[in-house]
Amino acid sequence: MKYLFENIQAVNELLHAKKNVILLTDFDGTLTPIRKHPDLAALSEEIRQILINISQDKAIFLGIITGRSLKQIKKLVQVQDILYVANHGIELEGPGIRSTCPEAKKARSTLWHVYMKLFKSLRHIEGIYVEDKGLSVSLHYRTVKKRCDVEQVSRTLHGITKPFLDRNMLFVHTGKMVYEIRPPVKWNKASAIQWLLTHYFPSEFSEEALLIYLGDDKADIEVFDSLRGKGLTVFVGNPANVSAAEYHHVAGDDSYRSPFTPDTSVADYYVHSSDEVKEFLEHLYSQKQEIHNAVQP
Ligand SMILES: [Mg+2]
Repeated sequence: MKYLFENIQAVNELLHAKKNVILLTDFDGTLTPIRKHPDLAALSEEIRQILINISQDKAIFLGIITGRSLKQIKKLVQVQDILYVANHGIELEGPGIRSTCPEAKKARSTLWHVYMKLFKSLRHIEGIYVEDKGLSVSLHYRTVKKRCDVEQVSRTLHGITKPFLDRNMLFVHTGKMVYEIRPPVKWNKASAIQWLLTHYFPSEFSEEALLIYLGDDKADIEVFDSLRGKGLTVFVGNPANVSAAEYHHVAGDDSYRSPFTPDTSVADYYVHSSDEVKEFLEHLYSQKQEIHNAVQP
């Protein structure tokens, strides 16, 4: 994986070679730095302005792809006429599309039950945050300080979710200092993008488009892997410093037994931070403007 700004010429060549761009980006840790509490994440006005500019360029299609709920991400981003892929693909909203996965809706009462049980069982643990996202539940432990408490969180999660996992009524995924409890549906960021490429983007646009994807977490790495050779993928973070310590397992569950170190090498490029993402988005926008101006008489 190469540092993007040392290879910007190659990126420019790709931008020149294709008429359009499909720009899909994660939110937390990509457009904004990761905060101690998810409620503290906010988009800077500078990035919002760049996103607005990009959204108004007819040759760029912009989408935000996130694990947050649709309601939350729209409130955080506040850019009109772009695509929002929320809850890891379960909720979609954008030009000409608005859908919620019907199978996921069926899991709502199970998710609520699990949310309440987790909330009641873990509320004594300092720093824990159980988040009800409607069609999924997030269990954030970034600010849980004691190691024994982190282990208790994992054990409790396993105890509460096991009956549902055994009957395929829920899935549990791991992210950076977070567990995601999701409905048992096939949707994830990678499959949502695949669906969009096949069914949503007009073929006359997508056939001439460079697909760019930016993200920082495990779910994004699945996207990088699925897009190998099909687009330009950018990992946000220091590839030498990706730490297994950010990814705990669910105690007692074989599928989550090992702490997980994501393989970032499947991305084409990396940038260090969301500040550099901003720099890249500015560059992308100005390159496209130059290209438009050059072709106009
Ligand atoms: Mg992220």
